[in-house]
Amino acid sequence: MQFCDDCGSMMKSRDGEMVCTSCGASVERDEDRAAQFVSTEAQSEDDVIETEEGANFEGKPTADDVHCDECGHTKAWYTIKQTGSADEPPTRFFKCQECGNRWRDYN
Ligand SMILES: [Zn+2]
Ligand SMILES: [Zn+2]
Repeated sequence: MQFCDDCGSMMKSRDGEMVCTSCGASVERDEDRAAQFVSTEAQSEDDVIETEEGANFEGKPTADDVHCDECGHTKAWYTIKQTGSADEPPTRFFKCQECGNRWRDYN
């Protein structure tokens, strides 16, 4: 249920918009905005990963408690990035010091 910002009357869904039954004002539907928000969120996480994959790991701290899937090496550079909400643990991005394989880890 949605009400008109202008006159407070009930609004009806029409052609993907919410249209006021009284004064005719129209706004985007809430559901559409929610869907856009979700896809924007997914997009931004992809962007973060994309950026990290292209990032220069040289000079980054070394993790020696890891295991590269490609070559079995146990040392990798890593960066830490908060990709989720603040109450989720940050994601660690690794780059193998032996073969350059990259992966990420959700602790
Ligand atoms: Zn109205
Ligand atoms: Zn490796």
